[in-house]
Amino acid sequence: MRFLPVFLDLQAGPIMLAGRGELALAKLRLLLAAGARIRWFATDGHHDVGGIDATDLARIEFGEGDPLVADLRGVIAILCAGAGDIGIAMSVRARSVGLPVNVMDDPSHSTFIFPAIVDRGDVVVAVGTGGASPVVARRVRERIEAVLPARIGDLAAFIGRWRKPIHGRIPQFPLRRRFWERLVDGPIGALVLAGRSDEAEKALRAISDPSAFAGAQGSSQLEGQVTLVGAGPGDPDLLTIKALRALQDADVIFYDELVSPEILDRARRDAARVPVGRRVGKPGIGQDAINKLLIEAAKSGQRAVRLKGGDPFVFGRGGEEVEALRAAGVAYSVVPGITAGLGAAAQFEVPLTFRREALRITFLTAHKARDAGNVDWSVLTDRRMTVVVYMGMTAAPSIRAGLLAAGRFPQTPVGVFARVTRPDAQAVVGTLDELPALIRKIDGGPAILIIGDVVARSAPWRHQNLNHVISELLEAAE
Ligand code: SAH
Repeated sequence: MRFLPVFLDLQAGPIMLAGRGELALAKLRLLLAAGARIRWFATDGHHDVGGIDATDLARIEFGEGDPLVADLRGVIAILCAGAGDIGIAMSVRARSVGLPVNVMDDPSHSTFIFPAIVDRGDVVVAVGTGGASPVVARRVRERIEAVLPARIGDLAAFIGRWRKPIHGRIPQFPLRRRFWERLVDGPIGALVLAGRSDEAEKALRAISDPSAFAGAQGSSQLEGQVTLVGAGPGDPDLLTIKALRALQDADVIFYDELVSPEILDRARRDAARVPVGRRVGKPGIGQDAINKLLIEAAKSGQRAVRLKGGDPFVFGRGGEEVEALRAAGVAYSVVPGITAGLGAAAQFEVPLTFRREALRITFLTAHKARDAGNVDWSVLTDRRMTVVVYMGMTAAPSIRAGLLAAGRFPQTPVGVFARVTRPDAQAVVGTLDELPALIRKIDGGPAILIIGDVVARSAPWRHQNLNHVISELLEAAE
């Protein structure tokens, strides 16, 4: 981000506009529509105000003479229509007196740029692309326009009117924030958005105990909670809407090493972030310590999110955490995530089931050779079973040996899928017999294995033209 979006108070003073012609007029209209006062220096001394109505005209001061020597007292920003020498000279002057300046179509001489704007009264959304592409900014704007309720500005104004009185009745900030969240998300917010502000007003007046409405217990102590959230395999667009909401509402987030920074970026800005997973070369703090942190956070009234890669209940120790929370009497809920196996299947087009060919799926973990020794391979002999192995990189040789001993064909297709759904995702496919060699081609974890005939239908398999392997497999099966 090179340009920080900030909002300029148009009540603070006029904006100076230098220039003439269509470009200048377009900006003049934009500024007038926003409610600005404008000091306008037409560079040719000719102010063409065609099409601007009389009430708006009252907000324009017509400056005479050279804008380069004009009086800048009170001006809050400078806008120059017309690049070239005049633009550069205006830019130099503005900077010498410390005023923000925009030279149209000349980002290199501008200290601010105009975003694409979504204007819903008090709710304003600015979309920027750092000046790179106004067309992209406009497309983003269109999408935002489409999802924002029409009366969202009314809702902001409604809350604005009630801010002070509610502040007086709920002095504690976290409780107050929760009050507004419940109001916005509940029936009162819905009334305002439906254009029924009068009824909303009445309903708000009828709240006799705002702290209780906000969910405070007895001594206005907030009730905390823990949400176990599945973050999915890496791509932030694979977060569920519920997960996103939990991240936006969180006071504190305890996250695993598998959670990508792009996902943490989607959390509320001022949420505290606590890494509790293994770090490079360092062990994690341990499950008991994590349980303790979660319980303490909830008991102190915080909304804690326990953020885990994939799904919390698939090899994620979510079950242990839930039991600890239950034993401690802490309120909790679980938001599922897309588990790595499903992420890999979707990304690399491995249909985990396929009519007549794959009728069952087994998810298993084989972290160490020792775990692999504990797996009962005999239940995995069915050729029509797809086997998805988590944490299977180091134990690969034992997995191969176990499956072969159980009678799986050495030609069984196998995929090793690393860092799935991330920008640097990698797929290596081959046969069960070659598994250890396939693993050696992986440039770093995490990686998941998918074993079964359906891997031959995957995209990487098709790209590598491995179909001769399939004929061998068919022969072996006969
Ligand atoms: N709860 C997680 C699994 C945690 S166990 C889930 O549901 O996905 C950790 C193992 O998950 C890793 O060893 C790897 O096998 C797998 N894994 C997690 N994220 C992955 C990713 N982005 N790509 C490939 N495998 C992944």
